[in-house]
Amino acid sequence: MCGIIGIKGNDEVAKELFVGLMALQHRGQNSAGINTYDGERFYSKKGNGLVSHVLTGNSLKRLRGTIGIGHVRYPTIGRGDEEDAQPFLTTSPVGISVVHNGNIVNYFELRRSLGEKRYLNSFCDTEVILNIFADNFTNDPFEAGRVIMDKTNGAYSILAVVSGVGLFAFRDPNAIRPFVFGRKGENYIFTSESVVLQILGYNIIKDLAPGEGILVDENGRVTQKMLKKGSPRHCIFEYIYFARPESVLDGLSVYKARLSLGKGLAKEVKRRGIRPDVVVPIPDTSRPTAIALAEEIGVPYREGLIKNRYILRTFIMSTDDERMRHIKYKLNPLIDELKGKKVLLVDDSIVRGTTSRQIVRVVKNAGTKEIYFAISAPPIRNPCYYGIDMQTRSELIAREKNEDEIRDILKVDALIYQTLDGLKEAIGKENFCRACFDGDYPTKIKGKEILEIEEKRKRLTQTRKVGAGLFM
Ligand code: SF4
Repeated sequence: MCGIIGIKGNDEVAKELFVGLMALQHRGQNSAGINTYDGERFYSKKGNGLVSHVLTGNSLKRLRGTIGIGHVRYPTIGRGDEEDAQPFLTTSPVGISVVHNGNIVNYFELRRSLGEKRYLNSFCDTEVILNIFADNFTNDPFEAGRVIMDKTNGAYSILAVVSGVGLFAFRDPNAIRPFVFGRKGENYIFTSESVVLQILGYNIIKDLAPGEGILVDENGRVTQKMLKKGSPRHCIFEYIYFARPESVLDGLSVYKARLSLGKGLAKEVKRRGIRPDVVVPIPDTSRPTAIALAEEIGVPYREGLIKNRYILRTFIMSTDDERMRHIKYKLNPLIDELKGKKVLLVDDSIVRGTTSRQIVRVVKNAGTKEIYFAISAPPIRNPCYYGIDMQTRSELIAREKNEDEIRDILKVDALIYQTLDGLKEAIGKENFCRACFDGDYPTKIKGKEILEIEEKRKRLTQTRKVGAGLFM
C-alpha cells in the first residue's frame, strides 16, 4: 500500500506535491520521493524515511517543472531498500517516470519475462511496470497502458510523466486501489485520496473508472479512454482502516462508513447482552466506530488511551518486534477513565494479534474490571495480494484459531467481531473486494504465484528482522 500524487500545473508543482505527500503520509512511511519535469529534463529526490525527512527545503527548490509525481511507500514487495523508493525513471525510448499504488500478483512472472532485455535495479514491482510500459511505448501512452492491463494481474493505480506527452494516469480493471482526479483552474491533479484535493484547494472531477486511462498533455488538454473493460471491486479495508476519515473514496465517505461499522457492531454487542461502563477507541482509526457504537448502546464514550503522534503507524511497521516495542511507547492509558471499569475497547481489525495483545496488556495494567474487545472488521482469514501487508496465510491469527481461542490469546472477557453481513450492510453489498474476509478474490490467483509471494515474504521478514536487530 502506498500513496501517490501527480500534478500538471501552470507553475512549479514541487511544493504542492510535497504538501500532498504530507497528507498521504499515513499510507506509507518507509520511503518518499518526488520527480518533476520542466519540458527539458527530469529532477528527482527520493529516499527512505518520512516525507519531511527526505524532501527538505533545499531539495524542493531543485525540483523544477510544471509536471510532477510523488510517492510514499509502504513495502509489500521488495526489501524496502533505498533502491526500491519511487518514483522510478527511465530514459529510453523517451523520459518516463512512474509511481504506483497497489501490488502486482504476477510480478515474478513479469520480471522473468523481461529477461536480459532490461536491467532492473530493484525488487519493486513498479520498476517492472515501468519497463514494460517503456518497451511498449511508441507515441501513445494509452496503447502502452493497454499492454500493462493485458499482462498484469493485481491492483494498480499508476501515474506516469512521459516527456513530450504529459501526465498519464490509469487504474486497474477492478479499481481496487483508490484514485481520484481533480482540477483547480488550469491545474490538474491525480491522487490516492480526496483529502489531498481538499487541502490543496482542488475540486473533484471524478474517481477513475475501472480500466480507465486519463492523459493531461503538456498543453493541459485532457483525454479519457477506457483501456480495458472492468467492474469495480474496491478494497473495503480502505474504509475500515487505511484511508483518512476525511476522504471520500469512489463516492463513499470513509468517516460515514466507520460510523456505520459502529452501528453494526452495536447490534452484536446488544445481541450478546454485553453492558460495559465505557466505550474506548484504540486511536485513531476506530474513533468514529466507537462513537457510533457508544451512541447506539447508550453508554458513555471516553478516551482511555492517548496516542503519541510522533510514533509511526504500527500496522505498517515491518516486524512483530518493531510493532511490540512501539505500542508500549505509542499508547498511554488514562488511568482515571479505565480503573475499576468494564471497558469495551474498539479496534479496526486483528491481523496477527500482536498489536492487540499488547494493547490489552496496557489497558489491563490500568486496573480495569473487565475488558471486552470489539472489532470493526470480521475475522481476517485470507491473505491480501493487492497491496495490504498481510500476504502469507501463516501470519493471520483468525486462519488457524477460532474466536474463543483468539479471545483467550488476547486475554479479554469477550471478543466481538463485526459479522460479514454487518460489514456488507455498513459499507455496501456490491462493488467491493472483501477477499481477506470471504476468500472471493477479484482476480484469478495461481497457486504458483501464492507460493512465490509467500516465499519472498518469508525472506523479506527475515531480512527486516536482521535489519531491526542492528538498531535495537
Ligand atoms: S483482500 Fe482485503 S485488504 Fe486486500 S484488497 Fe481485498 S479487501 Fe482489501
